[in-house]
Amino acid sequence: MRILVQKFGGTSLASKEARGHVISHIKRELKNGYRLVVVVSAMGRKGEPYATDTLLDLISAGGGSLPAREQDLLLSCGEIISATTLCSLLQSELISSVVLTGAQAGFRTDQQFGNARILDIVPTRVLEELEHKDVVIVTGFQGQSLDGDLTTLGRGGSDTSATALGAALHAEMVDIYTDVNGILTADPRIVEDAQPLEYVSYAEICNMAHQGAKVIHPRAVEIAMQSGIPVRVRSTFSESEGTLVANPEGFKDVQTGVVDRYVTGIAYVANVTQITVESQSKTGHNLQLKVFKAMAENDISVDFINVTPSGAVYTVFDSDSAKAEAILEQLGLGPRILTGCAKVSVIGGGINGVPGIMAKIVEALSEQNVQILQSADSNTTIWVLVNKEDMVQALRALHAKFELGRC
Ligand code: ADP
Ligand code: MG
Repeated sequence: MRILVQKFGGTSLASKEARGHVISHIKRELKNGYRLVVVVSAMGRKGEPYATDTLLDLISAGGGSLPAREQDLLLSCGEIISATTLCSLLQSELISSVVLTGAQAGFRTDQQFGNARILDIVPTRVLEELEHKDVVIVTGFQGQSLDGDLTTLGRGGSDTSATALGAALHAEMVDIYTDVNGILTADPRIVEDAQPLEYVSYAEICNMAHQGAKVIHPRAVEIAMQSGIPVRVRSTFSESEGTLVANPEGFKDVQTGVVDRYVTGIAYVANVTQITVESQSKTGHNLQLKVFKAMAENDISVDFINVTPSGAVYTVFDSDSAKAEAILEQLGLGPRILTGCAKVSVIGGGINGVPGIMAKIVEALSEQNVQILQSADSNTTIWVLVNKEDMVQALRALHAKFELGRC
């Protein structure tokens, strides 16, 4: 049995016109001889009627709160609406389909409501249904804990549902359909001349996704990478095949540029706060221990950490900034707090050891009078922290400096 997994994101299901495109992608692949497993997200984005964030607003608008277990029940509704709507559209096209929830599709997770981890997938029911139906529709983002409670997989969870199911079913490919023409050299909403990449390696997109390129969830890529299943990121609104994600050796004889290019793309995480703590004495290690222990105990995730002999500088999300400040004040550490920053990343497998990359970054940013607040690097990424009002300019300048608009 040749199985193909197709995942359709929120904007791909939000309008009648978009759903028309979804149907045509399904029809084409049925004609190509595949048995289809279609994973769906909730329709639309925040503010639209059945989007997951809109469902959450029902609770916050009432001024109330909801236990995490019950909140997951509410959050899971959007995917059920998408899946059943799609089932009815397929029925009118005389294509047989069945809808399975995450639990029915065999997603077994831990108990961490709102951000559950998949423990394993037992896709017996999916395989059974594939024997009789043209299409098995699976609600993305959902799982079931070992106690039988419904869980959700966190932001971008439907991407993870799709690649995990693809791996469990030994599918030929997982197609992630979205509203852009594949993986681009930068977010096209910010960098207008961002170019689609025809091929990327798992490692390249994994790094980009971890640095904020939200076109696919990093966990979804990690699962695909572990099982070696190829993923295509492509647009619902065109017939273009988008970007193929695989191991470089999986690209066989084609000229991909994956091995040669040193910068693949630029990404960002907005809305972060820089925190600086310094000790008056010469040895800061007690202070550093106090700081990072306090952050951990209060469940504040820290990033971009630079430790110096006398102190530390690091970032937290703006949403955690007030809490972090209060904790550090209480410890008598007198932190310096700079909210409204953005982390901008230059990503590429070939950065390692190439001279002059940092010089180019500094040049690009200083030409635009963008101040670098902090920087760090690894063998695949160089990060700079800038003020959020400089972020767009920084992204465009770096994209241009590395000539990514012309690949
Ligand atoms: P979906 O609802 O289909 O899951 P998402 O909003 O999660 O869609 O992801 C698609 C969006 O990702 C695009 O509209 C684009 O703005 C954004 N994006 C960010 N970085 C990139 C990138 N490097 N390449 C493509 N899209 C990107
Ligand atoms: Mg998404």
